Amino acid sequence: MPSYSADLTARDLAVVWHPCTQMHDHETLPMLPIARAEGAWLYGHDGRRWLDAVSSWWTCLLGHRHPRIVEALKDQLDRIDHVMLAGFTHEPAIELAEELVRIAPRPQAHDASPLTRVFYADNGSSAIEVALKLSFHYWRNHGRGERTRFVALTGGYHGETLGALSVTDVALYRATYAPLLLEPVFAPSPDAYERAPGESAADCAQRALHALREILQRQAHELCAVIVEPLVQCAGGMRMHDASYLTGLRALCDEFDVHLIADEIAVGFGRTGTLFACEQGGIAPDLLCLSKGLTGGTLPLSAVLTTADVYAAFYAEYASGKAFLHSHSYTGNPIACRAALATLSVLREEPVLERNRALAAHLDARLAPLAGHPHVAEVRRTGLIAAVELVRDKATREAFPSSERRGLRVYRHGLERGAVLRPLGNVVYFMPPYCITPEEIDFMVEVAVEGIERAVG
Ligand SMILES: *Cc1c(COP(=O)(O)O)cnc(C)c1O
Repeated sequence: MPSYSADLTARDLAVVWHPCTQMHDHETLPMLPIARAEGAWLYGHDGRRWLDAVSSWWTCLLGHRHPRIVEALKDQLDRIDHVMLAGFTHEPAIELAEELVRIAPRPQAHDASPLTRVFYADNGSSAIEVALKLSFHYWRNHGRGERTRFVALTGGYHGETLGALSVTDVALYRATYAPLLLEPVFAPSPDAYERAPGESAADCAQRALHALREILQRQAHELCAVIVEPLVQCAGGMRMHDASYLTGLRALCDEFDVHLIADEIAVGFGRTGTLFACEQGGIAPDLLCLSKGLTGGTLPLSAVLTTADVYAAFYAEYASGKAFLHSHSYTGNPIACRAALATLSVLREEPVLERNRALAAHLDARLAPLAGHPHVAEVRRTGLIAAVELVRDKATREAFPSSERRGLRVYRHGLERGAVLRPLGNVVYFMPPYCITPEEIDFMVEVAVEGIERAVG
Protein backbone atom coordinates (compact mmCIF):
# COMPACT_ATOMS: atom_id res chain seq x y z
CA MET A 1 0.00 0.00 0.00
CA PRO A 2 1.55 3.33 -1.01
CA SER A 3 1.48 5.90 1.80
CA TYR A 4 -0.65 9.04 1.55
CA SER A 5 2.57 10.99 1.07
CA ALA A 6 3.67 8.80 -1.86
CA ASP A 7 0.21 9.18 -3.36
CA LEU A 8 0.48 12.99 -3.21
CA THR A 9 3.91 12.84 -4.83
CA ALA A 10 2.57 10.76 -7.70
CA ARG A 11 -0.39 13.12 -8.22
CA ASP A 12 1.95 16.11 -8.12
CA LEU A 13 4.36 14.71 -10.66
CA ALA A 14 1.45 14.01 -13.00
CA VAL A 15 0.28 17.65 -13.19
CA VAL A 16 2.58 20.20 -11.53
CA TRP A 17 5.56 21.80 -13.27
CA HIS A 18 7.93 22.99 -10.54
CA PRO A 19 10.00 26.19 -10.55
CA CYS A 20 13.76 26.20 -11.05
CA THR A 21 13.70 22.42 -11.57
CA GLN A 22 14.71 19.92 -14.23
CA MET A 23 11.64 17.74 -13.70
CA HIS A 24 13.59 14.69 -14.88
CA ASP A 25 15.61 14.89 -11.63
CA HIS A 26 12.52 13.75 -9.80
CA GLU A 27 12.83 10.31 -11.32
CA THR A 28 15.30 9.80 -8.46
CA LEU A 29 15.12 12.92 -6.29
CA PRO A 30 12.35 12.90 -3.65
CA MET A 31 9.43 15.31 -4.07
CA LEU A 32 8.26 15.95 -0.56
CA PRO A 33 4.66 16.88 0.26
CA ILE A 34 4.49 19.26 3.22
CA ALA A 35 1.43 19.09 5.45
CA ARG A 36 2.20 21.70 8.06
CA ALA A 37 4.83 24.28 8.92
CA GLU A 38 5.74 25.81 12.24
CA GLY A 39 8.69 27.91 13.40
CA ALA A 40 11.82 26.68 11.65
CA TRP A 41 10.27 23.35 10.65
CA LEU A 42 8.35 21.80 7.76
CA TYR A 43 6.31 18.68 8.57
CA GLY A 44 5.37 15.87 6.18
CA HIS A 45 2.18 13.79 6.21
CA ASP A 46 4.07 10.78 7.50
CA GLY A 47 5.55 12.18 10.72
CA ARG A 48 8.86 13.29 9.20
CA ARG A 49 10.12 16.86 9.53
CA TRP A 50 12.77 19.09 7.96
CA LEU A 51 14.57 22.12 9.35
CA ASP A 52 14.00 24.98 6.89
CA ALA A 53 17.61 26.20 6.73
CA VAL A 54 16.88 28.40 3.68
CA SER A 55 13.71 30.08 5.02
CA SER A 56 11.70 28.73 2.06
CA TRP A 57 13.63 30.66 -0.57
CA TRP A 58 14.54 33.43 1.92
CA THR A 59 10.97 34.55 2.45
CA CYS A 60 10.08 33.11 5.80
CA LEU A 61 11.88 35.68 7.90
CA LEU A 62 10.59 35.10 11.43
CA GLY A 63 9.66 31.43 11.09
CA HIS A 64 6.59 29.70 9.72
CA ARG A 65 3.15 30.75 10.93
CA HIS A 66 4.34 33.45 13.27
CA PRO A 67 1.39 33.96 15.65
CA ARG A 68 1.24 37.74 15.12
CA ILE A 69 1.11 37.37 11.34
CA VAL A 70 -1.50 34.60 11.52
CA GLU A 71 -3.65 36.75 13.80
CA ALA A 72 -3.38 39.78 11.50
CA LEU A 73 -4.32 37.70 8.45
CA LYS A 74 -7.40 36.23 10.13
CA ASP A 75 -8.52 39.68 11.19
CA GLN A 76 -7.96 41.15 7.73
CA LEU A 77 -10.02 38.38 6.07
CA ASP A 78 -13.08 39.67 7.93
CA ARG A 79 -12.55 43.18 6.50
CA ILE A 80 -11.40 43.48 2.86
CA ASP A 81 -10.01 40.72 0.68
CA HIS A 82 -8.88 42.85 -2.25
CA VAL A 83 -9.66 46.06 -4.03
CA MET A 84 -7.81 47.52 -6.99
CA LEU A 85 -5.38 50.17 -5.86
CA ALA A 86 -6.21 52.56 -8.72
CA GLY A 87 -8.83 55.03 -7.51
CA PHE A 88 -9.18 53.19 -4.18
CA THR A 89 -7.12 52.82 -1.08
CA HIS A 90 -7.25 51.06 2.28
CA GLU A 91 -5.70 51.30 5.73
CA PRO A 92 -3.20 48.45 5.25
CA ALA A 93 -1.66 50.01 2.11
CA ILE A 94 -1.48 53.44 3.72
CA GLU A 95 -0.07 52.25 7.05
CA LEU A 96 2.48 50.00 5.37
CA ALA A 97 3.69 52.82 3.12
CA GLU A 98 4.00 55.10 6.16
CA GLU A 99 5.95 52.48 8.07
CA LEU A 100 8.27 51.66 5.14
CA VAL A 101 9.05 55.34 4.66
CA ARG A 102 9.69 55.68 8.40
CA ILE A 103 12.20 52.80 8.55
CA ALA A 104 13.83 53.24 5.13
CA PRO A 105 17.60 53.82 5.03
CA ARG A 106 18.38 57.54 5.30
CA PRO A 107 20.83 59.43 3.12
CA GLN A 108 23.82 60.91 4.97
CA ALA A 109 24.31 64.00 2.84
CA HIS A 110 21.82 66.54 4.20
CA ASP A 111 20.94 67.78 0.71
CA ALA A 112 20.14 64.26 -0.55
CA SER A 113 16.51 63.29 -0.82
CA PRO A 114 15.11 60.55 1.43
CA LEU A 115 12.82 57.73 0.30
CA THR A 116 9.33 59.12 0.83
CA ARG A 117 7.12 57.43 -1.76
CA VAL A 118 6.01 53.78 -2.10
CA PHE A 119 4.91 52.00 -5.29
CA TYR A 120 3.53 48.49 -4.67
CA ALA A 121 3.89 45.42 -6.87
CA ASP A 122 3.41 41.77 -6.06
CA ASN A 123 6.73 39.90 -6.28
CA GLY A 124 10.43 40.63 -6.37
CA SER A 125 10.90 40.52 -10.14
CA SER A 126 7.96 42.89 -10.61
CA ALA A 127 9.56 45.32 -8.18
CA ILE A 128 12.73 45.25 -10.30
CA GLU A 129 10.70 45.86 -13.46
CA VAL A 130 9.08 48.84 -11.73
CA ALA A 131 12.44 50.26 -10.64
CA LEU A 132 13.99 49.88 -14.11
CA LYS A 133 10.98 51.44 -15.82
CA LEU A 134 10.74 54.28 -13.28
CA SER A 135 14.39 55.17 -13.78
CA PHE A 136 14.20 55.12 -17.59
CA HIS A 137 10.91 57.02 -17.56
CA TYR A 138 12.28 59.61 -15.12
CA TRP A 139 15.06 60.53 -17.55
CA ARG A 140 12.63 60.53 -20.46
CA ASN A 141 10.26 62.87 -18.59
CA HIS A 142 13.28 65.14 -18.09
CA GLY A 143 13.92 65.18 -21.86
CA ARG A 144 16.76 62.65 -21.59
CA GLY A 145 15.19 59.79 -23.55
CA GLU A 146 18.63 58.80 -24.89
CA ARG A 147 19.37 57.30 -21.48
CA THR A 148 18.28 53.72 -22.14
CA ARG A 149 20.86 51.50 -20.48
CA PHE A 150 21.57 50.15 -17.01
CA VAL A 151 24.75 49.17 -15.23
CA ALA A 152 24.55 45.79 -13.49
CA LEU A 153 27.22 43.93 -11.55
CA THR A 154 28.79 40.63 -12.55
CA GLY A 155 27.40 37.80 -10.43
CA GLY A 156 24.25 39.79 -9.62
CA TYR A 157 20.71 38.39 -9.58
CA HIS A 158 17.50 40.39 -9.83
CA GLY A 159 14.80 37.93 -10.90
CA GLU A 160 13.50 35.97 -13.84
CA THR A 161 11.19 38.26 -15.81
CA LEU A 162 12.85 39.65 -18.93
CA GLY A 163 13.80 43.05 -17.53
CA ALA A 164 15.02 41.61 -14.23
CA LEU A 165 16.83 38.80 -16.03
CA SER A 166 18.51 41.38 -18.27
CA VAL A 167 20.33 42.87 -15.29
CA THR A 168 21.09 39.41 -13.87
CA ASP A 169 24.51 37.86 -14.46
CA VAL A 170 23.97 34.23 -13.51
CA ALA A 171 24.56 32.24 -16.69
CA LEU A 172 22.41 29.33 -15.55
CA TYR A 173 19.33 31.54 -15.69
CA ARG A 174 20.35 34.15 -18.24
CA ALA A 175 22.30 32.53 -21.07
CA THR A 176 19.38 30.76 -22.79
CA TYR A 177 17.30 33.92 -22.97
CA ALA A 178 20.11 36.33 -23.84
CA PRO A 179 18.72 37.01 -27.36
CA LEU A 180 15.55 38.39 -25.76
CA LEU A 181 17.17 40.65 -23.20
CA LEU A 182 18.21 44.26 -22.77
CA GLU A 183 21.94 44.75 -22.94
CA PRO A 184 23.18 46.28 -19.72
CA VAL A 185 26.74 47.34 -19.12
CA PHE A 186 28.24 44.84 -16.66
CA ALA A 187 30.63 46.29 -14.11
CA PRO A 188 32.90 44.06 -12.02
CA SER A 189 31.45 42.86 -8.74
CA PRO A 190 33.20 43.89 -5.51
CA ASP A 191 32.86 40.20 -4.49
CA ALA A 192 35.53 39.65 -1.83
CA TYR A 193 35.94 35.98 -2.76
CA GLU A 194 37.63 37.16 -5.96
CA ARG A 195 40.23 39.23 -4.13
CA ALA A 196 43.83 38.85 -5.17
CA PRO A 197 46.39 37.44 -2.72
CA GLY A 198 47.20 40.08 -0.12
CA GLU A 199 44.20 42.19 -1.06
CA SER A 200 41.57 43.02 1.58
CA ALA A 201 37.81 43.06 0.98
CA ALA A 202 38.02 46.87 1.10
CA ASP A 203 40.78 46.87 -1.57
CA CYS A 204 38.60 44.68 -3.69
CA ALA A 205 35.73 47.16 -3.29
CA GLN A 206 38.01 50.04 -4.33
CA ARG A 207 39.15 48.14 -7.40
CA ALA A 208 35.51 47.53 -8.42
CA LEU A 209 34.69 51.21 -7.84
CA HIS A 210 37.59 52.24 -10.02
CA ALA A 211 36.27 50.08 -12.88
CA LEU A 212 32.78 51.49 -12.39
CA ARG A 213 34.14 55.04 -12.53
CA GLU A 214 35.64 54.29 -15.94
CA ILE A 215 32.30 53.01 -17.21
CA LEU A 216 30.49 56.08 -15.89
CA GLN A 217 33.08 58.45 -17.35
CA ARG A 218 32.63 56.86 -20.74
CA GLN A 219 28.90 56.15 -20.78
CA ALA A 220 26.96 58.13 -18.16
CA HIS A 221 25.16 60.06 -20.93
CA GLU A 222 23.37 56.86 -22.03
CA LEU A 223 22.81 55.37 -18.58
CA CYS A 224 19.70 55.40 -16.38
CA ALA A 225 20.89 53.65 -13.23
CA VAL A 226 23.27 51.27 -11.52
CA ILE A 227 21.57 48.30 -9.88
CA VAL A 228 23.14 46.48 -6.94
CA GLU A 229 22.40 43.79 -4.35
CA PRO A 230 23.86 45.50 -1.28
CA LEU A 231 26.42 43.47 0.76
CA VAL A 232 25.48 39.99 -0.50
CA GLN A 233 24.94 38.79 -4.07
CA CYS A 234 22.64 36.02 -3.01
CA ALA A 235 21.50 33.80 -5.89
CA GLY A 236 24.89 34.30 -7.55
CA GLY A 237 26.42 32.20 -4.74
CA MET A 238 26.12 34.21 -1.50
CA ARG A 239 29.10 36.31 -2.54
CA MET A 240 29.78 39.11 -0.04
CA HIS A 241 31.46 42.50 -0.30
CA ASP A 242 32.75 45.28 1.87
CA ALA A 243 30.27 48.00 2.86
CA SER A 244 32.69 50.68 1.60
CA TYR A 245 31.61 49.65 -1.91
CA LEU A 246 28.13 50.99 -1.20
CA THR A 247 29.47 54.30 0.07
CA GLY A 248 31.67 54.70 -3.01
CA LEU A 249 28.87 53.60 -5.32
CA ARG A 250 26.52 56.25 -3.94
CA ALA A 251 29.17 58.91 -4.43
CA LEU A 252 29.79 57.82 -8.05
CA CYS A 253 26.07 57.79 -8.90
CA ASP A 254 25.81 61.32 -7.50
CA GLU A 255 28.92 62.52 -9.33
CA PHE A 256 27.74 61.17 -12.71
CA ASP A 257 24.05 61.86 -12.11
CA VAL A 258 22.66 58.36 -12.57
CA HIS A 259 20.17 56.61 -10.29
CA LEU A 260 21.16 54.02 -7.75
CA ILE A 261 18.75 51.07 -7.50
CA ALA A 262 19.26 48.93 -4.38
CA ASP A 263 17.74 45.47 -4.61
CA GLU A 264 17.21 44.50 -0.96
CA ILE A 265 14.67 41.81 -1.90
CA ALA A 266 16.83 39.13 -0.28
CA VAL A 267 18.95 41.13 2.17
CA GLY A 268 16.36 43.53 3.63
CA PHE A 269 14.64 43.38 7.03
CA GLY A 270 17.56 42.52 9.28
CA ARG A 271 19.13 39.70 7.28
CA THR A 272 22.58 41.32 7.10
CA GLY A 273 22.65 42.57 10.70
CA THR A 274 21.06 45.98 10.13
CA LEU A 275 17.45 46.55 9.17
CA PHE A 276 18.62 47.35 5.62
CA ALA A 277 22.00 46.46 4.12
CA CYS A 278 22.38 50.00 2.70
CA GLU A 279 22.68 51.33 6.26
CA GLN A 280 26.12 49.68 6.58
CA GLY A 281 27.40 51.87 3.77
CA GLY A 282 25.63 54.91 5.26
CA ILE A 283 23.63 55.39 2.07
CA ALA A 284 20.11 55.58 0.69
CA PRO A 285 19.41 54.63 -2.93
CA ASP A 286 17.10 56.50 -5.32
CA LEU A 287 15.02 53.35 -5.72
CA LEU A 288 14.80 50.58 -3.12
CA CYS A 289 13.23 47.22 -4.04
CA LEU A 290 11.73 45.10 -1.25
CA SER A 291 9.90 41.76 -1.27
CA LYS A 292 10.58 38.21 0.01
CA GLY A 293 10.74 38.71 3.82
CA LEU A 294 8.39 41.69 3.66
CA THR A 295 5.32 39.56 4.51
CA GLY A 296 7.30 37.13 6.67
CA GLY A 297 6.94 34.49 3.96
CA THR A 298 3.16 34.36 3.94
CA LEU A 299 2.00 36.17 0.80
CA PRO A 300 3.55 37.67 -2.32
CA LEU A 301 4.04 41.42 -2.08
CA SER A 302 6.72 43.88 -3.10
CA ALA A 303 7.37 47.56 -2.81
CA VAL A 304 9.60 50.08 -4.55
CA LEU A 305 10.49 53.09 -2.42
CA THR A 306 11.65 56.25 -4.12
CA THR A 307 12.33 59.94 -3.59
CA ALA A 308 10.26 63.08 -3.95
CA ASP A 309 12.50 64.01 -6.88
CA VAL A 310 11.60 60.85 -8.83
CA TYR A 311 7.92 61.22 -7.93
CA ALA A 312 7.88 64.84 -9.06
CA ALA A 313 9.15 63.93 -12.55
CA PHE A 314 5.86 62.09 -13.21
CA TYR A 315 3.49 64.58 -11.58
CA ALA A 316 1.86 66.75 -14.26
CA GLU A 317 -1.35 67.29 -16.24
CA TYR A 318 -2.57 63.96 -17.68
CA ALA A 319 -2.13 65.23 -21.25
CA SER A 320 1.62 65.60 -20.67
CA GLY A 321 1.87 61.80 -20.97
CA LYS A 322 4.24 61.70 -18.00
CA ALA A 323 2.26 59.36 -15.73
CA PHE A 324 3.63 55.99 -14.65
CA LEU A 325 0.85 53.72 -15.92
CA HIS A 326 2.41 50.45 -14.76
CA SER A 327 0.10 48.14 -12.79
CA HIS A 328 -0.32 44.63 -11.44
CA SER A 329 -3.77 43.27 -10.60
CA TYR A 330 -2.84 42.48 -7.00
CA THR A 331 -0.91 45.70 -6.38
CA GLY A 332 -0.99 46.50 -2.66
CA ASN A 333 -3.29 43.60 -1.75
CA PRO A 334 -4.73 44.38 1.72
CA ILE A 335 -4.17 40.89 3.16
CA ALA A 336 -0.53 40.90 2.05
CA CYS A 337 -0.09 44.44 3.44
CA ARG A 338 -1.44 43.27 6.83
CA ALA A 339 1.06 40.40 6.84
CA ALA A 340 3.82 42.95 6.15
CA LEU A 341 2.59 45.26 8.91
CA ALA A 342 2.63 42.38 11.38
CA THR A 343 6.16 41.41 10.27
CA LEU A 344 7.40 44.98 10.68
CA SER A 345 5.75 45.29 14.09
CA VAL A 346 7.73 42.26 15.30
CA LEU A 347 10.95 43.80 13.94
CA ARG A 348 10.07 47.08 15.68
CA GLU A 349 8.96 45.73 19.05
CA GLU A 350 11.19 42.72 19.64
CA PRO A 351 15.00 42.67 19.93
CA VAL A 352 15.29 40.73 16.66
CA LEU A 353 18.61 42.20 15.49
CA GLU A 354 20.27 41.58 18.85
CA ARG A 355 19.04 38.00 18.91
CA ASN A 356 20.28 37.52 15.35
CA ARG A 357 23.74 38.74 16.38
CA ALA A 358 23.93 36.09 19.09
CA LEU A 359 22.74 33.42 16.63
CA ALA A 360 25.32 34.56 14.08
CA ALA A 361 28.11 34.25 16.65
CA HIS A 362 26.93 30.73 17.44
CA LEU A 363 26.85 29.89 13.75
CA ASP A 364 30.42 31.21 13.34
CA ALA A 365 31.65 28.97 16.13
CA ARG A 366 29.99 25.89 14.65
CA LEU A 367 31.18 26.60 11.11
CA ALA A 368 34.76 27.50 12.07
CA PRO A 369 36.16 23.93 11.82
CA LEU A 370 34.99 23.72 8.18
CA ALA A 371 37.45 26.45 7.16
CA GLY A 372 40.29 23.90 7.41
CA HIS A 373 38.53 21.30 5.27
CA PRO A 374 40.58 20.32 2.19
CA HIS A 375 37.61 20.99 -0.14
CA VAL A 376 36.43 24.23 1.45
CA ALA A 377 37.91 27.41 -0.05
CA GLU A 378 36.06 29.82 2.22
CA VAL A 379 33.52 30.04 5.02
CA ARG A 380 31.93 33.49 5.01
CA ARG A 381 29.11 35.22 6.80
CA THR A 382 27.19 38.50 6.74
CA GLY A 383 24.47 38.80 9.37
CA LEU A 384 22.36 35.66 9.27
CA ILE A 385 23.64 34.49 5.88
CA ALA A 386 26.54 32.04 5.98
CA ALA A 387 28.10 30.19 3.06
CA VAL A 388 30.64 27.44 2.53
CA GLU A 389 32.41 27.46 -0.85
CA LEU A 390 33.27 23.91 -1.97
CA VAL A 391 36.19 23.55 -4.38
CA ARG A 392 38.10 20.73 -5.98
CA ASP A 393 41.47 22.28 -5.09
CA LYS A 394 41.82 24.39 -1.97
CA ALA A 395 45.16 25.95 -2.95
CA THR A 396 44.15 27.14 -6.43
CA ARG A 397 40.42 27.49 -5.65
CA GLU A 398 39.70 25.44 -8.75
CA ALA A 399 35.94 24.82 -8.72
CA PHE A 400 34.24 21.48 -9.00
CA PRO A 401 32.71 21.21 -12.49
CA SER A 402 29.01 22.09 -12.24
CA SER A 403 28.15 18.85 -14.08
CA GLU A 404 29.27 16.91 -10.99
CA ARG A 405 26.43 18.50 -9.04
CA ARG A 406 28.19 18.28 -5.69
CA GLY A 407 25.66 20.64 -4.11
CA LEU A 408 22.82 18.33 -5.08
CA ARG A 409 24.47 15.57 -3.06
CA VAL A 410 24.42 17.83 0.00
CA TYR A 411 20.75 18.57 -0.68
CA ARG A 412 19.89 14.86 -0.90
CA HIS A 413 21.73 14.13 2.32
CA GLY A 414 19.91 16.98 4.07
CA LEU A 415 16.53 15.62 3.05
CA GLU A 416 17.44 12.17 4.37
CA ARG A 417 18.57 13.63 7.69
CA GLY A 418 15.81 16.23 8.14
CA ALA A 419 17.19 19.56 6.95
CA VAL A 420 16.47 21.64 3.86
CA LEU A 421 19.89 22.71 2.56
CA ARG A 422 19.51 23.78 -1.04
CA PRO A 423 22.99 24.74 -2.24
CA LEU A 424 23.65 27.18 -5.07
CA GLY A 425 25.97 25.14 -7.28
CA ASN A 426 29.00 24.38 -5.09
CA VAL A 427 28.03 26.85 -2.39
CA VAL A 428 26.34 25.37 0.66
CA TYR A 429 24.62 28.17 2.52
CA PHE A 430 22.51 28.87 5.57
CA MET A 431 19.80 31.52 5.63
CA PRO A 432 17.60 30.30 8.48
CA PRO A 433 14.47 31.92 9.87
CA TYR A 434 15.24 34.27 12.77
CA CYS A 435 13.39 31.99 15.22
CA ILE A 436 16.07 29.28 14.86
CA THR A 437 17.58 28.17 18.19
CA PRO A 438 21.27 27.46 18.92
CA GLU A 439 20.41 23.74 19.16
CA GLU A 440 18.76 23.85 15.75
CA ILE A 441 21.84 25.61 14.38
CA ASP A 442 23.96 22.74 15.77
CA PHE A 443 21.75 20.23 13.97
CA MET A 444 21.76 22.24 10.73
CA VAL A 445 25.55 22.49 10.66
CA GLU A 446 26.02 18.85 11.67
CA VAL A 447 23.87 17.71 8.73
CA ALA A 448 25.67 20.09 6.37
CA VAL A 449 29.11 18.84 7.47
CA GLU A 450 28.06 15.22 6.91
CA GLY A 451 26.56 16.17 3.55
CA ILE A 452 29.75 17.97 2.51
CA GLU A 453 31.86 14.94 3.50
CA ARG A 454 29.74 12.73 1.26
CA ALA A 455 29.59 15.24 -1.57
CA VAL A 456 33.33 15.78 -1.87
CA GLY A 457 34.41 12.20 -1.06
C1 LIG B 1 14.51 36.51 -5.29
C2 LIG B 1 15.12 37.75 -5.74
C3 LIG B 1 14.50 38.54 -6.73
C4 LIG B 1 13.24 38.11 -7.44
O1 LIG B 1 12.15 37.99 -6.58
P1 LIG B 1 10.94 37.01 -7.03
O2 LIG B 1 9.87 37.29 -6.01
O3 LIG B 1 11.48 35.61 -6.94
O4 LIG B 1 10.55 37.39 -8.40
C5 LIG B 1 15.10 39.72 -7.08
N1 LIG B 1 16.24 40.12 -6.50
C6 LIG B 1 16.86 39.42 -5.53
C7 LIG B 1 18.09 39.94 -4.91
C8 LIG B 1 16.33 38.19 -5.14
O5 LIG B 1 16.98 37.44 -4.24
